[in-house]
Order: sequence, then structure tokens, then C-alpha cells
Amino acid sequence: MAPHVDILDTPIEYLKGVGPARADVLKKELGIFTFNHLLTYYPFRYVDRSKFYSIREIHDDLTYIQIKGTLLNIQKIGKPRSQRLVAMLRDDTGVIELVWFKGIKWIEKKLEPGTEYVVFGKPSLFNGKFNFAHPEIETVAEQAETIEEKLQPFYSSTEKLKNKGLDSKGIRKIMKNLLIQAQGHITENLTEDLINSIKLVSREMAIMNVHFPSDPAILEKARARLKFEEFFFHQLNLLKLKLLRLEKLKGNRFGVVGDYFNDFYQNHLPFELTNAQKKVIKEIRADLGSGKQMNRLLQGDVGSGKTLVALMSMLIALDNGFQACLMAPTEILAAQHFKTISRMMEGMPVHVNLLTGSTKAKQRKEMHELLQSGDLHILIGTHALIEESVQFNNLGLVVIDEQHRFGVAQRARMWKKNTIPPHMLVMTATPIPRTLAMTFYGDLDVSVIDELPPGRKPIKTAHYYDKDRLKLFGFLKKQIAEGRQVYVVYPLINESEKLDLKDLQDGYDSMSRAFPLPDYAISIVHGKLPPADKEFEMQRFVKGETDIMVSTTVIEVGVDVPNASVMVIENAERFGLSQLHQLRGRVGRGADQSYCILMTKEKLTADGRERIKTMVRTTDGFEIAEVDLRLRGPGDLHGTQQSGILDLKIADIIKDEKILKYARSKASELLRNDPHLEKEKNQPIARFLKEINRTKTNWSMIS
Ligand code: ADP
Ligand code: MG
Repeated sequence: MAPHVDILDTPIEYLKGVGPARADVLKKELGIFTFNHLLTYYPFRYVDRSKFYSIREIHDDLTYIQIKGTLLNIQKIGKPRSQRLVAMLRDDTGVIELVWFKGIKWIEKKLEPGTEYVVFGKPSLFNGKFNFAHPEIETVAEQAETIEEKLQPFYSSTEKLKNKGLDSKGIRKIMKNLLIQAQGHITENLTEDLINSIKLVSREMAIMNVHFPSDPAILEKARARLKFEEFFFHQLNLLKLKLLRLEKLKGNRFGVVGDYFNDFYQNHLPFELTNAQKKVIKEIRADLGSGKQMNRLLQGDVGSGKTLVALMSMLIALDNGFQACLMAPTEILAAQHFKTISRMMEGMPVHVNLLTGSTKAKQRKEMHELLQSGDLHILIGTHALIEESVQFNNLGLVVIDEQHRFGVAQRARMWKKNTIPPHMLVMTATPIPRTLAMTFYGDLDVSVIDELPPGRKPIKTAHYYDKDRLKLFGFLKKQIAEGRQVYVVYPLINESEKLDLKDLQDGYDSMSRAFPLPDYAISIVHGKLPPADKEFEMQRFVKGETDIMVSTTVIEVGVDVPNASVMVIENAERFGLSQLHQLRGRVGRGADQSYCILMTKEKLTADGRERIKTMVRTTDGFEIAEVDLRLRGPGDLHGTQQSGILDLKIADIIKDEKILKYARSKASELLRNDPHLEKEKNQPIARFLKEINRTKTNWSMIS
């Protein structure tokens, strides 16, 4: 093939209107290095500039609008240092104030009382009246010249870009120059089949119109096409990764289900499995028997019984002559798992042990030996399991609980603990909305436990204001009198901040006054305590020696005290939804009615209020996760390590879920027919995929 010179690969400084200085900020601020990059810098909003509002029509939820009117007077107000420029504009229906705090001189010079202007901006309510702060303003004559487009695109910008004249208007200008040059050079990246079968507009048409749409209908088509394209290539990458794994990574075939599993199932299982647990175990069994390495994500709400599923999967490993391990994010949780699993293995010839950072050297050495001889069957622990010195005789299955606390690299290190990589079962109690699971973990298989064990009473959740504290104390006293225990949790922004500890300490002091010794006993736990003290305090609560556990979020994950029936969350507005949900899941584990009480101050932000309302309304983890995703956006959901993977430019995984599903099915259909994208007709797709992967390095991080 002849070398392909693409004008769209031209460095951005060569675009008319850009030059080296602007190119520099475009690169640094937006990662725009080439014509191509700028082409896919899409507007975030369009404003219909053919529509004018009258002043009387202005109301609260308008975004950007334009009005037309005669300028009355102009006035400088305030001391020279904090001066503002105020002008009044009148139309047939009223008068409105325009105000500027910066660039006053320049604007003052430009404005001429008595002249007709077009004012464009976002009205805001100030002291009971609407005004425009820093609106764009042009004379009617000027506007008629400059506005060619009816639907005007708006681009997001930054301070640094604005300083170089690249505000939305500036970007619009260079975009226009770019489109003139790009016309005729925007190549198609989908096949004709695809385009025809789903009636997409061409790529060129889409890009031209997403920037400067000639009418709303074509804009819709352009956006739909670009959304599809974005999801399609995203999914293609994920699905290819999965194919690659299936082809390359052999897995140990666990062909039999034998005595360990059957003996446990028939003689030791403390209760009937839920249907959801059965279904998931079946899925896991199929994976383990397939001869390919399993990489399965197990989602199940707090209390849905994931541990049991993990244990039964581990027993299948044992049945096939392999060892298994279970890794938890904290010592407390690891210890809890160890206790639960040892208890369930009582009377069975299964050797279980616990390895954490605080395991003594001597025990550790013993354990290493037993592991290498194969006499230790199930090892439970923290990330201490990852250490090089922990060598197994024949590790077949790794279960990771609460996966979001483990980095991807850590997980990969577990793969290396056997010549043929062990199967991986990753469990999370943070329900991930299905759409997101599909996008994030497209290369992992997902199982869901969507049912709680029978007999659980739904937790009752209430919202109290701080002024209701006496009522709260009264309620707690009643619960404690009935023999129940209570958690009181304080938020933690950063353990190193003295302030958080002070909140906690103040809370503890006031609890101590309201619940004095010897009638009541209180435990206090926070991240600053030495592990031994923490453990001691936890144990006092677990054993029922204390009635109240005051703590920071260290108890967030995993502790199981069935007798605890009340979870009080202080400053609940400061917690994210998924955290609130996790915390609430600490109660409701026994047969008694449980309660969650969300304490907040009276003034809440809109988001804060919605979080609290959601918690009061529902206990459904998936519903909560959906709201969480809507409020926070997907970027936040999994912390920094995964952010950036979903840097969608135009599609929205919630609003465009249908398109996502469609794109996914089309991507998988394509790979079924042409797994390596070798067919001639698929070359546009293959080329484009290569191109985006050349510039994107983080795909390997996904699983
Ligand atoms: P999670 O999914 O949050 O890890 P666990 O595995 O800790 O949940 O289970 C929560 C509680 O439910 C435990 O006390 C466990 O013994 C119990 N449990 C699990 N499965 C069942 C079942 N099928 N029937 C009744 N109780 C169950
Ligand atoms: Mg658990």
C-alpha cells in the first residue's frame, strides 16, 4: 500500500487561527495535538440563536438565551478596586440589568446608550431580580453579520484557554477553519453493511453537523451516529481483549465435582441455598470446567450470601486437587471470613488458615511450608497473600472480595502464582449498574446474586435532623434496653485531618454523657488506633460487651454482628450513596427489625437531599447505584484507578443505554464473523481501531 498521508494528522499549530502559543494550551489543556483531535472535540450544548426571549418571559431554569432591546444608561458602581459596570436594557415587556465585573473599560467603550443590542447569556436571580452577568453583547447590526448558524455550538473551555482567546467563541472560530480544510478528508470508519443496516449518516456528515448543524433533525442524526461509533469501538476493544484471553490463557479444567463439595452440600450446609446462589454456582462451575481461565465478577448486594458461593467454588478447586485462597481488603474482614469459613468446614477434612500483615513470623513460616506441601487447602488473608514468599503447591482458584480496593496490578500478580494461571472470582458488594458493568468489565463475565436469603426484614431508614438528637437518644435507649446493639458512624474525609478525629471524639463524648457507665458501655474505633487496640475494641462489640460502637468508616466493610440492629450515620450528607448503602448493610443481619438513621444538618445541597431521600426510599442496591451514577457520573464510581477509561466524548452510558446495547451486539456480531478483523470489507474498522489504540494506552488496565 502506498503510504497514506492524512491531512487530519497535521499538528494543530498549523491550523489557521491557532499558531504555536495557542497550540501549546490546546495540547496541555485538552490533549488536542492534531486536526483530528480537534475534530472530535464536540460541543456540549447548542443554542438556538434564531430565538429571542422577551424580558418578561425570563424564568428560573433557563440556561443560555438571548434577548433584544435598547440600552438605557450605563453606570460604574463601587470603589475603583471593586468596581462593576451596570447597564439597563429595555424591551417591550420590561427592563433588565446587565453587569460586568471585569474588562469594564473595554465594555464601557463599546456600549452606546440608545442603541439596539442583542444580549446573550444565562440569566441569574440576584436579590429577587433577574440579571445577566458578563453576557455577550453585540449590536443588532453586528449580530446579523456574524451569526450564520442558527444552532450555535458551545464548547467547554478553561481559564488558560480563555486567556489565549479560546473561549467557546474562539474555539468556534478555529473549528470553522478546520472544517473548511477537513471537508472531503474525513474518512469512514464503519463498514457499509453497518451503516446501511442501521441507517447511520456518514462520518463526514456527522462530524460536520455535530459542530455546525443546519437544523435540529440533522444534529440528532449526527449525534446518534457519533454515539454509536464511540460505543462501538469501545466495546470492540473490550470484546477483543476477552477473545484474546480465551485464546491465549489456558485454564485448569476442574472436571469433577467431588467429595468436598458434595459432603458439604449434603451434610454441612447450614441453610438452603437461594435460587440466585444456585444459579451463580452453576455459572461458576461451567467456567471452571471449561478449560479456559475463569475471570468472573460476582455482584451481590450486601448480605446476599457471596461468601458461601466463594466457599463452594473453592471446594470445587479442592475436589480437583487444587488449593484456593480468598483475599479481603482489611484484616477485620479477612478475620471474619476465616471465622465463618472455619466454622462451616468443621467436621470436614479441610485445612483452612489465616494470613495477614500481623501474622507472626513463626506462624508465617509454618504456613508457607504447609502451603508448599499442599497440606493447607484454603488460605484466607489480606494483600499479604500477594507477597512473593507466599508460594502454593498448586493454586487453582483465587477469590477476591470487594474488588475495588485492589488495584489491577495486584490482581495480575495473583495470576503468576501458578504456571497455569488460577481461576479468578472477583466479588463486589457495590452493585454496579448493568450498563456500567458492561462498559467497565466488558471482558469479565458477570454473575449477579439478585436475591437476599429469605426471612430478612427490610431495614427501616429514617432521616433525622441534628435537632432531633434527643429523640434519637430515646430511641437508642429503647433498642439497647431490648438487648440490641448500635453503631454510630462518623464520616471521614481524611484520617490525617485532625478535624475528623475531633468530630469523632466530640461525638463520643456526647454519647458518653447520654449513655453513661455503668448502665451503658461504648466502644470507639478509628483508623488512628494501633491494630491491636482496634481489634480489641471490635471484639468487645462483637462479643456483646459494649452496646454502642462509635467509629469512623473503618467498619464500612464486612463486619458481621447480627445482634446490632441500629446504624446511626452522623453527617450523612457527607457520604456518597454507595458508602451509605454499605454502612446500612452492617445491620439487618439478624432476625430482628433493624433501623438506619441518617443524621444531617438542616441545610442540604440538592445532591445531598437526593442522596438522603434515595436511602429512605429504597434498599435496592441497584437502584441506589443507578442514582449514584446519575448524581456523580461514572468517572467517580470506581476511584481514580479506573478513571479515564470511560472518557466518553459524546455518548452517555445512562441516557444512551439503548445505543450502547446495540453497539455491543453489533461489535460482538462483527467479531463472531471476523475475530481478527482480517476481512477486506472490515478494514476501515480495523484501521480506526488501531489508530485509537495507538493513542490510548490504558486498555490493558481494564481487567
Ligand atoms: P455478603 O454477600 O454481603 O458477603 P455474606 O456472605 O456475609 O453476605 O452473607 C450474609 C449472611 O447471610 C451471613 O450471615 C450468611 O451466613 C447468611 N446466608 C448466606 N446465604 C444464606 C442462605 N442461602 N440462607 C440463609 N442465610 C444465608
Ligand atoms: Mg461479604
